[in-house]
Amino acid sequence: MFIRTVKGDLDPRSLGFTHCHDHLFVFEGKQTGLPENLLLNSYDKTKSEVLRFIEKGGSCVLDAQPFGAGRHVSLLQTLSNETELHIIASTGLHKPDFYKSYFWSFDASPSQLTDLFVSEIEEGAYAYDDYDPFKRRSVVKAGALKVATDEKGFTEYSRKVFDAAIMAHKKTGAPILTHTELSKWGLEQAEYLMAAGVPGESVIICHMDRVLDISAHIEIARRGVFLEYDTIGRYNYHSDEDEAVLLKTMIQNGFRDQLLVGMDSTRQRYISYGGAIGLDFILCHFIPKLVQAGTTLQDIEAITVKNPQRALSFKKR
Ligand SMILES: [Zn+2]
Repeated sequence: MFIRTVKGDLDPRSLGFTHCHDHLFVFEGKQTGLPENLLLNSYDKTKSEVLRFIEKGGSCVLDAQPFGAGRHVSLLQTLSNETELHIIASTGLHKPDFYKSYFWSFDASPSQLTDLFVSEIEEGAYAYDDYDPFKRRSVVKAGALKVATDEKGFTEYSRKVFDAAIMAHKKTGAPILTHTELSKWGLEQAEYLMAAGVPGESVIICHMDRVLDISAHIEIARRGVFLEYDTIGRYNYHSDEDEAVLLKTMIQNGFRDQLLVGMDSTRQRYISYGGAIGLDFILCHFIPKLVQAGTTLQDIEAITVKNPQRALSFKKR
C-alpha cells in the first residue's frame, strides 16, 4: 500500500496530521465557472498558510480541486518541495457549475473520461493553463479521484463521471473522494460506488457535516465508507461546539475509524488572503473543542492521522 503525493509515492505510515479535503490553489481558467470568492491564486499567500500549518504540527493536505477546475499541480509540487508539506493532488471532475457549458467533459464518452483519470494518476496530471486544460501534461501524478453530485443528484452526466471514476479506481486502486451539495445524496453516492465493486475503505464522502443529521451520517457510515467533515469554523451552518458533539456522537456509535477532517478552505477563510481563519484552525482551535467535548487524544489521533493513512492509500487488488 502507498499514498501518491505530488513528490512521489509514500509509505502511509509516514503521514502525520492530515486534512483530507482542502484547497491550496484555485486559479481562474477561461473554461471554468468559478466564483471569485473561491480563487486561491497567490503562491506566497498560500505558502504562508502552509508554513503556519506545518509549524503547528500539520503534515499533509489533499488538494481537492480536480481536472480543469483551476487546479495547478505544478505549483502544488513547488509548494511541497519548498515547505516539505505532503500534498495529494486530485484528478476527476467537479460539479457541472464549476465549468463553462462548452467544457470537454460534457460531451466526452465514459471511456475518454476513464482514460483521462487513469493517465493523470499513472503518467502525470495536466498542468494548469488559462485556455486549454489539455495543453501540457506535467510529471506530477494525481493521488485521488474526485467526483461530485450537485443538488440534482444522479443525473446522466454525474452517473457518467462516477462510472469513469469507478473504472479508474479498478485500474489504479486510487481512493475516491465525493462532493455532496449541502449534504445531499451522500448515501446514494456510497451505495452507487459500492454496488459497482469499490470497497468502502476507498470511498470518502465529503461535506456531510453541512447538515448535522446524525441518523443520516450513521446510515452512511454503516456502509463502511469514510465520512469527511469540513464544515468547521463556518458559523452560518453551525457552531464548532455542535460540530464537536457530532464527532463525539459518531465515535460513541462506533464509527471513529471512518471519520476524517479538513477545512475545505476558500479565499474568505484564509487569513493570508484577508479571510477569517487559517489553515491551522483545526490544529489550534478545533482540537481543543474536541477535547472539551470529551474526545480522547487517541480518538483525535485516529481521525487526523491513522484514518487518513488508510483512506488515502491506493488499494490494488
Ligand atoms: Zn472542496
